[in-house]
Amino acid sequence: MKVALVTGGTRGIGAGISKELKEKGYHVIASYVSNVESAQKFEQDTGVQTIQFDVSNFEECETAYKKIIAELGKIDVLIHNAGVTADSTLSRMSQDQWHKVINTNLNSAFYLTQLVLEKMISQKYGRLIYISSVNALKGQRGQANYAATKSALIGFSKSIALEVASKGITSNVVAPGYIDTDMVRAVPEKILEKIIGTIPVGRLGTVDEIAHIVSFLADEKSSFITGSVISANGGMY
Ligand code: NDP
Repeated sequence: MKVALVTGGTRGIGAGISKELKEKGYHVIASYVSNVESAQKFEQDTGVQTIQFDVSNFEECETAYKKIIAELGKIDVLIHNAGVTADSTLSRMSQDQWHKVINTNLNSAFYLTQLVLEKMISQKYGRLIYISSVNALKGQRGQANYAATKSALIGFSKSIALEVASKGITSNVVAPGYIDTDMVRAVPEKILEKIIGTIPVGRLGTVDEIAHIVSFLADEKSSFITGSVISANGGMY
């Protein structure tokens, strides 16, 4: 059975990905950082195994990785989904806002990818999937920190794709537009209405629509797709 680690896999887009992969027959481990209550509920409702660690902390990533390997022996699929925002125009952005987003969204990709890659290379199989954002591709006022991390994931993924192309490992990015999750619901209603007005299909996307793409990329048969960025944004460019 293939093992998939979905970071931030207990809520929002990650929860949708975890459920879809479980339905497709993967052994899924969904990670979270602090929201124990929703993680426990998710585990009870879905039967998906959960694990608590902070992706922005290398030692915690390493401990979690070792725990998973001790229990399951391998990780075939890494879905790097955990991410945060800390919005502010650049002139007002604090050092904390900058570093929190860089550490959580980007440094975590380095930590986790480096950890999972060695075994993927030795087993000559792996799927790396990074969740970016439409705002990586078009920029967004108040999100210089967030957009920087999300576009960096694209360069990161494309580079890893080249490094491991001959090893049966693919590395790809999914760039969602605005999806109906807690992260987007936290946007003030008036601003959200304006955003929805700019989405050609006239609505927010659903977590299932993103999970579908991730599951497609994770499939063994998607072996010729690597270094790609797949957008799913309702026509918003
Ligand atoms: P949510 O805020 O709904 O969920 C975020 C998840 O990430 C939670 O499970 C959270 O854990 C986890 N997480 C946050 N920080 C850490 C951390 N330091 N270590 C481990 N886990 C952490 O996010 P969404 O589902 O909306 O977004 C998921 C991904 O998709 C993000 O990378 C986001 O940037 C991206 N995205 C989202 C879009 C949207 O419209 N929603 C659009 C484009 C991209 P806990 O439950 O413990 O808080």
